[in-house]
Amino acid sequence: MTELKYKRILLKISGEALSGEKGSGIDTDTINEICDRIYKTHELGVEIAIVVGGGNFWRGRSGVGMDRTTADHMGMLATVINSLGLQDALESRGIPVRVQTAIEMKQIAEPYVRRKAVRHLEKKRIVIFACGMGNPYFSTDTAAAQRAAEINAEAILMAKNVDGIYDSDPSKNPNAIKFDKISYQEYLNKGLSAIDSTAASFCKDNSIPMLVFGLDNPDNIIRAVKGEEIGTTIY
Ligand code: UDP
Repeated sequence: MTELKYKRILLKISGEALSGEKGSGIDTDTINEICDRIYKTHELGVEIAIVVGGGNFWRGRSGVGMDRTTADHMGMLATVINSLGLQDALESRGIPVRVQTAIEMKQIAEPYVRRKAVRHLEKKRIVIFACGMGNPYFSTDTAAAQRAAEINAEAILMAKNVDGIYDSDPSKNPNAIKFDKISYQEYLNKGLSAIDSTAASFCKDNSIPMLVFGLDNPDNIIRAVKGEEIGTTIY
C-alpha cells in the first residue's frame, strides 16, 4: 500500500477509449485489456469508482440536428451500455461490481445513492456511475468531477484517446505542445476544450486534481495511482 499515491480514485473512461481501432461501439479486446489493468489496480488495494462516457455510441452534446434534450437522453443511455459492458468484463475477472444509474432503471442497476456507493467502495467493490449526472446539457466529464467530490476521491484519472492536454488539437496541429502540468485557471483562461469547462471549473472550486492520460499504454492507470507523472496533471 505504501507505493500508492491515491487510495480512492474516480476513473473516467471516455466512450471512445472502449472502441479501440473500430472507432465506435465496444471492441472486446480493448475492453478486456482495460479491465485487466483495472483489475491489477484494484488488486493493489485502490478503491475505484468509474464514470464512463457514451461517445462511442452517441454524443448528444455534439449537435446531432435533433432536440438537444432528447439527444442527451440517448447519450446517457449509451453510458449505460458501456457501464454494463465494463461490469461484465470486470466481474468475469472476479471483482465485485455495482452499477449505479443517475436515472432510475431498477431492473438493470441500482439507483445512485451516495452512501451506498461509498459503502461499496469501502467493501472493495468497484462502483460504476452510469447516466452521467442524469441531466441533459451536461457531460460525463462533469459527472466525473461531481461524483469524485461526493465520494471524496483523491484524484480524477481521465483516461482518453489522447495522451494529455495540448495547447491546440494535436490531431489537427502537428506542432501542438503538451503540458506536463497546468492549473485549472490557466486551462480555463486559454479556452482549452479537451475537458469541458464546467468540469474544469468545478474541480478548480473543489480542489480536485485531474490526471489526464492516454490508454495507448493501458499500464498508465497503475502508473498514475502510484504517482508517476504521465500525461498532464491539472491542479
Ligand atoms: N450526457 C448528458 N448528461 C450527462 C452526461 C452525458 O446529457 O450528465 C449525454 C450527452 O449527450 C453526451 C453523452 O451523454 O454527449 C455521452 O457522454 P459524453 O459525451 O460525456 O461521453 P464521452 O465523450 O466521454 O464518451
